[in-house]
Amino acid sequence: MTSTQVGIDLGGTAAKSGRITLTGEILAERTIDPGFADGPEIVLDRLANLFQELGGGDALGIGVPGLLDRTRGVVITSPNLPGFGGLDVKAGLARRTGLPLSRVHVENDANAAAVGELWLGAGRGERDALVVTLGTGIGGGLILNGALYAGAGMAGEVGHIVVDPAGPPCGCGKRGCVETLASATAAKRRALAAGLPASKPGDLVLLAQRARDGHAPEKALMHEIGRDLGRGLGPVLCLLDLRVYVFGGGFSGALDVLEHGIREGIEERSYGGRAPDVRLLRATLGPAAGWIGAARVAIAGG
Ligand SMILES: [Zn+2]
Repeated sequence: MTSTQVGIDLGGTAAKSGRITLTGEILAERTIDPGFADGPEIVLDRLANLFQELGGGDALGIGVPGLLDRTRGVVITSPNLPGFGGLDVKAGLARRTGLPLSRVHVENDANAAAVGELWLGAGRGERDALVVTLGTGIGGGLILNGALYAGAGMAGEVGHIVVDPAGPPCGCGKRGCVETLASATAAKRRALAAGLPASKPGDLVLLAQRARDGHAPEKALMHEIGRDLGRGLGPVLCLLDLRVYVFGGGFSGALDVLEHGIREGIEERSYGGRAPDVRLLRATLGPAAGWIGAARVAIAGG
């Protein structure tokens, strides 16, 4: 019988999930509302039901936002998942699904998305890459030698590389992190400050289109945002000489108009004239990257 695994990408408003074979064939997909208002134990019940509804599997991987003890499968803090701070997700799901503990893996959501993109998405076939999620914040997942590299647990968090110590305050307590300058949230703030419309959903798409069409204010804004993002990636290039960067998340649709600025920022904060050789790719799995990667690490990590 073919081995299959289930992956879940747990967010504050949706749990995206699916069942997939070891060769990457998707057998089922499903999205539910986790219903955090009912408390964490009920949420775990629903996730275990989801595992069964998808047809079960030999392993279960779950991606969650926040700070984790990846080895124990315990969430330390997660501002986006009410009641999950301190929760032993691994044991809770193993008990409910009947899977052995070694077959349940809890992973940071950005790491899971990185694994997904390298396995079946834009980074397919690459050995070394950084996958950057440009959303409300900026997440990152580092793949080295074909495997997820988490260091002591938090490697790849490029969103909190400080680019401008005098810049805007960040949720992490520092100032001027990449996330405060180049996330979708930051782009909206910067657009409004420049007198450009950015209050409605979809305005960023419109701004990117206007930049693409050659309108000077939008072009300049996208260039500046890209440059700040590149300034955050320069140190990554210095440390690891990584040449492949995959961009996912809602704001990654603007990659083509950010690209020139990104290369300029990388050049400014690295050495050796490598910026032109860096490959900047747009993620291809969309919102499925998280659950697909979570399913993959359930096998690799179990
Ligand atoms: Zn920060």
